[in-house]
Amino acid sequence: MNPLIRLIPAPLVRFFARPYVAGDSLAAAMAVVHRLHRERGLLATLDLLAEDIRTPEQAQANLDTYLQMVDAVAASPLAPAERPTLSLKPSSYTIAPLQHGGDAAGSLAAMTAIAERARERGVRLTVDMEGRHWTDFTLSALRSLHEAGHRDIGCVLQTRLHRTEKDLDQLPAGMRVRLVIGIYREPAEIALVDKPAMKERMLQFAEVLLRRGHYVEFASHDDAYVRRFLGEVVPKVGVGPDRFEVQMLYGVPRERFLADLRSKGIRARLYVPFAVGWAMAIQYLRRRLDEYPAMVWLVTKNLLLRR
Ligand SMILES: Cc1cc2nc3c(=O)[nH]c(=O)nc-3n(C[C@H](O)[C@H](O)[C@H](O)COP(=O)(O)OP(=O)(O)OC[C@H]3O[C@@H](n4cnc5c(N)ncnc54)[C@H](O)[C@@H]3O)c2cc1C
Repeated sequence: MNPLIRLIPAPLVRFFARPYVAGDSLAAAMAVVHRLHRERGLLATLDLLAEDIRTPEQAQANLDTYLQMVDAVAASPLAPAERPTLSLKPSSYTIAPLQHGGDAAGSLAAMTAIAERARERGVRLTVDMEGRHWTDFTLSALRSLHEAGHRDIGCVLQTRLHRTEKDLDQLPAGMRVRLVIGIYREPAEIALVDKPAMKERMLQFAEVLLRRGHYVEFASHDDAYVRRFLGEVVPKVGVGPDRFEVQMLYGVPRERFLADLRSKGIRARLYVPFAVGWAMAIQYLRRRLDEYPAMVWLVTKNLLLRR
């Protein structure tokens, strides 16, 4: 991460990154989800910002909030297929973050509890992919949940990692896959460093996954690559719009592009994060600012223009 972004004090990070956060309660986030659906025909995946866990109480509170999120989604007036999915990060439920691989104490138990409640209530989950120390743990947790009969859980694969080519072959049959370039900066020995190359791999892997019968969630704000996915990969494989969707982050200005996709009958979903404990939200927000520092100027400009 850019050292300057690391130096910005937490309250300022929170201020500048606010376009990316849907509110500071589950009710506020659900209101955003329903508005996006009503006004723009967009689907959502709801995420609690909960990283950098320091105490067992925080880990437990995150689990409790996810169980409440399952209930809130199940109670949504939207038709079941239109209800949000939930996105979760394994690191949210442990005070033993993985620095060198291994087992994340507490994470699998929490993920299992959420998956069980989600299955009971007909709610779909996606397990986000974190930095490289988490990849083995996360993929193995997903496999064991799948083997335990949880078929409504999707995974995320990061095309920047060289290992992903092999990980594709190990995926449980039919698992839903969100393809991303990956937001964590990884060393050149294990990952691509060139963004266009990562995006070319998104197209290449999307084709492999579609051919193998996976549902593909193409997550990128790069209009040119989204267009190539829709205009080259999808027709080449010959699948219909029930086999894929396009995903973007809440707060990234892509209104016109998404409206255009919707007008063509393409499913589009926004990743909608909310925060209850702001300390646990700061890591996510710093990553967003690191990825797109221009946000600092955009927010400042909007503020000045309002006066
Ligand atoms: C729905 C979703 C879920 C994700 N889940 C994960 C995950 O689980 N694990 C993971 O490692 N990564 C995840 N990511 C992040 C992803 O890996 C990329 O870091 C991110 O999408 C940026 O890459 P890009 O393909 O959009 O291309 P970029 O080249 O970064 O972006 C294309 C253009 O979009 C605009 N843009 C991009 N980001 C922003 C921004 N923050 N604010 C304003 N404009 C912006 C810029 O104009 C930029 O030129 C997710 C992304 C999305 C959309």
